Amino acid sequence: SARRDERDWVWFNALTTSPVDQRLTLWQDIQVALEEDQFFLVFQPIFNLNSNQPVSAEVLLRWRHPQQGLISPAVFIPFAEQTGLVKRIDLWVLNAVARQLRQWSEQGLNMPRLALNLSGISFLRPDFEQLLNTAFNGDLQLLQHLELELTEGVLIEDMERIQEQIDAVRQLGVQISIDDFGTGYSSLSRIRNLDIDHIKIDRSFIDDIESSPQSCKIIEAILHLAHGLRLKVVAEGVETEAQLHELRQMGCDLVQGYLLSRPLERSDYEALLDEDLEI
Ligand code: C2E
Ligand code: CA
Ligand code: CA
Ligand code: CA
Repeated sequence: SARRDERDWVWFNALTTSPVDQRLTLWQDIQVALEEDQFFLVFQPIFNLNSNQPVSAEVLLRWRHPQQGLISPAVFIPFAEQTGLVKRIDLWVLNAVARQLRQWSEQGLNMPRLALNLSGISFLRPDFEQLLNTAFNGDLQLLQHLELELTEGVLIEDMERIQEQIDAVRQLGVQISIDDFGTGYSSLSRIRNLDIDHIKIDRSFIDDIESSPQSCKIIEAILHLAHGLRLKVVAEGVETEAQLHELRQMGCDLVQGYLLSRPLERSDYEALLDEDLEI
């Protein structure tokens, strides 16, 4: 429930803006969390609006802190990005996702595609491709089930370098999406030069669908241009039937949000994989 989450997260919200000794505690606690497997993954299904079926899921990180309870990535990822710790976290997630996909494949489950969030500094490290191959044991079959979500922020970096890295991972069958689209520095003109698969429209635009004709215009413009570039568009943060209806009308391809499903713990998500769920 939202209220409980808020209470749990207050402590860390305070911490990220607090004195050095407390920031040091957070830094140490993240190290311990990595070593003692306090992190775990949840899975939020993404639905295709043509088939009305779940086609993939976004992997979201959770931290069960021994004293503080559940902590949101919204508070510790920004801190981890500032301190460089995010490289270790991203690597942990990458390995966990590879392990999970391998396990599902061995169990003969309906294999989904999993989209993981990767910080720009992890994606652009020179050994990233190697880390990816190591995590997946070079298994090209499994790599086809992987998607990387990069935030728009990464696009302010050297575009040639970015495209080179995108090409390298797409060669392995990995898909790329640009996350939080519309909030950052990039524009569709920058996207135009990139070989990617999906754009995720930021939740703030979806929130405003019913109240702001401007937001609808922006969503329509993104859809129009993205489709011109043969990119599929995901709307995230869909919370109401009215938003879903509008997005269908506008020709959006994929949707994700609390209306359709909250992020699910592994066993609940596995149950869904074996159902013929429709929206
Ligand atoms: P994001 O990539 O934009 O992820 C979507 C966030 O929106 C998630 O929050 C998700 O739980 C939430 N959400 C989904 N549907 C709805 C909805 O209908 N309404 C509302 N109000 N919220 C919705 P979460 O899990 O707290 O993640 C926050 C951010 O933390 C993510 O934003 C992402 O930037 C970062 N993050 C999460 N997991 C990872 C990870 O494994 N690695 C890295 N580097 N960053 C991560
Ligand atoms: Ca994301
Ligand atoms: Ca997002
Ligand atoms: Ca985000």
